[in-house]
Amino acid sequence: MIAEKTYLIPTSASEAIEMAKANLGAFKYLAGGTDVMVNRFQGNEESPCLIDISKLDELKGIAKDEAFLKIGALEILEELKFNEDLKASFPMLIEAALTVGAPLLRKTATIGGNVLCENRCLFYNQSEWWREAVGYCLKCDGDICIATQGKNACFSELVSDTAPALIAMDAEIEIVDVDGVQRVPLESIYTGDGVAPRNLSATAILTAIYLPLNREFKTAFYKLRERESLEFTSLTTAVAIDKNGKLKIALSGVDPKPVVVEGSVSDDKASLIKQAIKGSRAVDNDMYSRKYRREMIGVYLNRSFDNLKI
Ligand SMILES: Cc1cc2nc3c(=O)[nH]c(=O)nc-3n(C[C@H](O)[C@H](O)[C@H](O)COP(=O)(O)OP(=O)(O)OC[C@H]3O[C@@H](n4cnc5c(N)ncnc54)[C@H](O)[C@@H]3O)c2cc1C
Repeated sequence: MIAEKTYLIPTSASEAIEMAKANLGAFKYLAGGTDVMVNRFQGNEESPCLIDISKLDELKGIAKDEAFLKIGALEILEELKFNEDLKASFPMLIEAALTVGAPLLRKTATIGGNVLCENRCLFYNQSEWWREAVGYCLKCDGDICIATQGKNACFSELVSDTAPALIAMDAEIEIVDVDGVQRVPLESIYTGDGVAPRNLSATAILTAIYLPLNREFKTAFYKLRERESLEFTSLTTAVAIDKNGKLKIALSGVDPKPVVVEGSVSDDKASLIKQAIKGSRAVDNDMYSRKYRREMIGVYLNRSFDNLKI
């Protein structure tokens, strides 16, 4: 039976999944709630049942073994900067986390919620009456993409800032679901379809993020946004090179999924930039034009390569 206006607080991940199974099609997990609650106020998220996973201790803490640093999905963005292991080995993640929204928001927002936050579009993140007035869009009950006038694809963008930083440093995520636990590369969960941007099942819980130790990453991170003090990204670029010269670029804000380019420090830089621009399906659904954001990919990547002296 589907719950109506229910707020559930599980005490373990397995209990949360049982609650999710009992409310299939009618629930939403809530961590920090800074994305979910805003979408609810805008009428974009209307699940009658909220399952508050913020009390799950098994999703908290930062610990390391010989090979990986494990970051619990409920770790708070603003607090990452106090962790010595992150400061020493993965400062780009701290830098990325500190560009998310504004300080008050970051004191509630979690890293798990950040990599799973809903895709955005200028024509979707509007009030219910605004969307009704324009006839809705592919992402919300309409039959046309307002940005492109096309009928086949939704280009709402991945706006997570920590996702590109994590992906550039080869992060993996741990997922718990009805059929057990699995660990996959972070980038593998993004579909590229703006309507259903992730391939996780509704009941899946992201428990932790793993970053590989001993790779000695050198990194560069940039974010384009209108107001430094608050705004979502219009383009985020993250570049990481490891001690063996492996290079990985990850972008958000210019495609429904992260744009990822892999190579080595000896590769032709212009060709890497070309691949990144070609891979981004940015459309005019942001305050900055598609043309400008695509040009800025080249500007930020060139700047990153200069900083990294490659
Ligand atoms: C004014 C404003 C500015 C913002 N600016 C930015 C910005 O600059 N950059 C940015 O990246 N984001 C931004 N955000 C969006 C949001 O605040 C962040 O992405 C935040 O990190 C989301 O984390 P949360 O814990 O609040 O997620 P929630 O809102 O709790 O959840 C987000 C999504 O993830 C799911 N979820 C959360 N945790 C789990 C889990 N462990 N397992 C399974 N599913 C889970 C939820 O069901 C939901 O679908 C902004 C939001 C606002 C309101």
